[in-house]
Amino acid sequence: MPPKSDRPIFKPDITDAKLSKDTWVEQVPLRDLSVDAFFMLDDNLNLMSINDAGQSMFRVSGAVEFGKCIVDVIPDVKKMGLYKKCRHVLKTGESVVVPQELGDRSLVVKLFKLGNSLGVIVSDVTERKRVESERERLLNALDEKTRELEQIVNVTSHDLRSPLVNIQGFTGELGESFKQVHEIFDSKAVPSEVKKRLAPLLDEDIPHALQYILASSSKMNSLLSGILRLSRLGRAAPNIKQLDMNKLIAEVVASFEFRVKESGATVGVEKLPPCYGNETQIYQVFSNLMDNSLKYLDADRPGAIRISGQENEVRVTYCVEDNGIGIVDKDRERIFEIFCRLDPDAGIGEGLGLTIVRKILERNSGKVWVESEPGKGSRFFVSLPSEEGINDKK
Ligand code: ADP
Repeated sequence: MPPKSDRPIFKPDITDAKLSKDTWVEQVPLRDLSVDAFFMLDDNLNLMSINDAGQSMFRVSGAVEFGKCIVDVIPDVKKMGLYKKCRHVLKTGESVVVPQELGDRSLVVKLFKLGNSLGVIVSDVTERKRVESERERLLNALDEKTRELEQIVNVTSHDLRSPLVNIQGFTGELGESFKQVHEIFDSKAVPSEVKKRLAPLLDEDIPHALQYILASSSKMNSLLSGILRLSRLGRAAPNIKQLDMNKLIAEVVASFEFRVKESGATVGVEKLPPCYGNETQIYQVFSNLMDNSLKYLDADRPGAIRISGQENEVRVTYCVEDNGIGIVDKDRERIFEIFCRLDPDAGIGEGLGLTIVRKILERNSGKVWVESEPGKGSRFFVSLPSEEGINDKK
């Protein structure tokens, strides 16, 4: 390769209307910084200029033979079938981009007319393609593993319910038999000595044990149905459409009418912008959030819940705000984990509501997060695509 100072610099005819000083001359030094191969050919396809990357990509050794036809200097150009394409570009002035395989290398060749000359930029995308195909392979493997896992969860939670139903059924029968035993026990026929010895068992131990088995199996039943619901959410949500959130939230709020009255809380809903999502699933999201905001109100002050929304170009962000017990900072992420309950004795629940909310939103290109101050209240934010966001994705 000749030393840089001896190398001819291509001097195009800048009187050509199509070629301004800005488009070429000032960019000449950039050629040597580029990792892409760059060369210029005249209208007979003779080599006029080539950068360092071009010489090493096409293994041009020794002194570069400027002025010679490109296929003689770089035989690969002919091998790649580029000769014809070069002619076409020179004739028509249309730029072309052609992907090319050369041995084990993947290249992208861009041909464009510059004045009366032809510019050629060749990018070696072998590594990028390898990384992309590795990424695709890993994503497919992950997808397969996730499917397997979902199937295991589905089958296990479904199959565990049959023995559980048996436990519940037989515990009920035991309870009935126990009542009969108790009736006999209460009769005069049983000697008082026997009554005295059996009383602690029949009055306390056995009824407690039965109650405990029933409560635990019913808890297990609701956990299993929660897992089943979670695993049935599927992957991507079907039927994504524009949602009238004023209507949807009004329906959610109406479904809580009784509990709102019972708690004495006020519920305020602002005018809400529409968003895109699966109607049933987004209804479920706001129903779970509304349920929580009622469940975790502070008994020491009247509850106030407010639902608002704001559009921000590609997304719409809704906020469900309450003045309840609040959440400490360290638990703000944890509450979205499966079965997480900060206070297991606070209200009825399995610690699944927010896990379902997050899963649904993942499937609807949405997000959920919380801001909260313990003792003051919480603000759950839900972001979903707006019309512009949905169109951007298409
Ligand atoms: P669940 O309500 O059934 O326990 P969730 O997954 O809906 O389950 O919520 C997980 C936990 O997050 C709750 O147990 C509660 O401790 C906390 N939490 C959720 N929403 C609120 C809220 N609005 N205010 C305070 N704590 C909340």
